[in-house]
Amino acid sequence: MIKTTTRPTNFIILFYMINNILFDKLTSFNFSPKRLYINYSPVYKSGSSNKACKSLARPENLQLKNMMATSGNKGTADDHGSEVLRNYVDVHCHLIHSSFAGEEDAAARRAADKGLEYCIVNGLEPVSNRQVLELCERQPNCIPAVGIYPIDAACNVIQPEVWEHDFPPPEKFDVDAEIAWIDQMATEGKIVAVGECGLDRHYLTDQPSLDEQERVLVCLIDVAKRHNLPLILHTRKAEERTFQLLQEHEVIKADFHCYGGKAKLAKRIAEAGYYFSIPSGVERMDAFRNLVKVLPLDKILTETDSPYMGPDKGQRNEPATVPRGVAAIAEVKGISVEHAATSIRDNFRSLFGL
Ligand SMILES: [Zn+2]
Repeated sequence: MIKTTTRPTNFIILFYMINNILFDKLTSFNFSPKRLYINYSPVYKSGSSNKACKSLARPENLQLKNMMATSGNKGTADDHGSEVLRNYVDVHCHLIHSSFAGEEDAAARRAADKGLEYCIVNGLEPVSNRQVLELCERQPNCIPAVGIYPIDAACNVIQPEVWEHDFPPPEKFDVDAEIAWIDQMATEGKIVAVGECGLDRHYLTDQPSLDEQERVLVCLIDVAKRHNLPLILHTRKAEERTFQLLQEHEVIKADFHCYGGKAKLAKRIAEAGYYFSIPSGVERMDAFRNLVKVLPLDKILTETDSPYMGPDKGQRNEPATVPRGVAAIAEVKGISVEHAATSIRDNFRSLFGL
């Protein structure tokens, strides 16, 4: 038999239960996706997952994410008992990569533990682009960028029979439909940047592929400009040409990720107002240390390109290594880690508006 009478004591118990939930909501931060869905945002309760995602990337919701992910510049003590800065940013990581399979959320949480306020998770093609949006719905410190990687951009013109690399040629997909989808995501306020995109003249050298990469990049530049979003650019062996295209199309907001071009050109790019994200591998890579030397501090951002470009050679990289990158940048610049982290955070705000 089920008792249906409600006695005053039941009300008291109910009050304590509700109070507990509210208290928990305000005082502790729990990364469990389920908890987030229940406690933090009314949009999760009412809408489809699509609607929730749409809502998340709107500035006010990103602001909410910010409040949830951090509690000021400094946080709790880390494993070694020292204070952890809470204002680190990773503007370019690939948590949607097979090497993170099943560990995407854990890697995002480890990043939060190390003081990563924001990780911009970048997509590459239709499948990863959609997975990026899903992960960012679940993880409060992850925010999405979607794009078309330059090698994937040429998927319909690459001839598999002449492909000579030690990885398979990209799978074909409808590139123009994907550009239209990215445009739609931007219209709906779901993304904070267009990326990864750009040019690659290391793996692709035939003219049809180069032409197609440029056509796709110009389309994505158009999307980014119309929505006032930054571009996160891959420019391998094509730094000068990418810079030219940005200038021709009067692009204002762009980040050169893992720039590998000449120092002289880097200076010109920085003078034009564009940013450079330095991977945490700067700790061991002289090329990036030299780049940091020539760049003004107000054009430097941090990234990991996870799972690549890490400080430990041969090991999978992840956003949690950003503090090591910042420490190396601070050392090269002869400034404190806190100064470097704060400047980088300011640059992040200037470019992404967050
Ligand atoms: Zn990348």
